[in-house]
Amino acid sequence: MKETMINCNNVSYKYRANENEEEKYAVNGVTFKVEKGEFLAILGHNGSGKSTIAKHMNALLLPTEGTVVVDGLDTSNSECLWEIRAKAGMVFQNPDNQLVATIVEEDVAFGPENLGIDPKEIRERVDDSLKKVGMYEYRKHAPHLLSGGQKQRIALAGILAMQPDCIILDEPTAMLDPSGRKDVLNYIKEVNEKYGITIILITHYMDEAAQADRLIVMDNGKIILEGKPREVFSNVKKMKELGLDVPQVTELCYELRKEGININSNILNVDEMVNVLCQLK
Ligand code: ADP
Ligand code: MG
Repeated sequence: MKETMINCNNVSYKYRANENEEEKYAVNGVTFKVEKGEFLAILGHNGSGKSTIAKHMNALLLPTEGTVVVDGLDTSNSECLWEIRAKAGMVFQNPDNQLVATIVEEDVAFGPENLGIDPKEIRERVDDSLKKVGMYEYRKHAPHLLSGGQKQRIALAGILAMQPDCIILDEPTAMLDPSGRKDVLNYIKEVNEKYGITIILITHYMDEAAQADRLIVMDNGKIILEGKPREVFSNVKKMKELGLDVPQVTELCYELRKEGININSNILNVDEMVNVLCQLK
């Protein structure tokens, strides 16, 4: 049996509406588990409730109904708050809002300092975390002079320095150029694969979602599809109805099948596509 990192059970969340407005569920009866060491991606168009559910995973929000349990700790138990925040770190979309210091290494030290870690150990954690995201050479630089992708890697290092078991990333690449996006995703994957940290990645990029172990697709506060990327993306019609894309190669297969070409429908990347096309001859 694999151990559970995060357990969301029938979670609903209503934003407190003002008097003139109707109360609206941002998340509505969502149930899922994330296993320790898993890389889960959450997809969905704007307003589908992704950020709201993300903020439940480290007790930034508490459910209106249902429960969220992080490594055995119920987020509604206020005594567990710091333990939960130390276990589950969050990286947000805008790198500029996350960096607080004027020197990279001071920024990365900020989290462990707040945890009351011994200065000697902080030094080690900062160096180690910066190396893990390939930013050690930049340790004396000013964060505001770095590229968006580099800033996000610093933000990731800041979370790693707190030695979390789990990292939740809410569209961390949305403001980056393609090369920064690729770099950040590679480091996220490395953190997952090499160090076994559980990753929950919220994204609207299909190529990023395709690299996860498992996908959840949200719409209107609910989970609509769930499964391995290949299974989820093979629902091309459904994804399109939800206003979402699928990876380009998956779509190409779908169109070829519609034209009567008998081709496997759950292809995820160019290499697989090439293999399948070569067998058609
Ligand atoms: P996503 O991250 O998928 O774009 P969100 O979780 O941000 O979705 O939003 C889900 C729903 O909750 C949307 O209808 C949005 O308008 C609403 N919402 C989000 N934040 C607030 C807030 N602070 N106050 C009121 N409503 C909000
Ligand atoms: Mg969002």
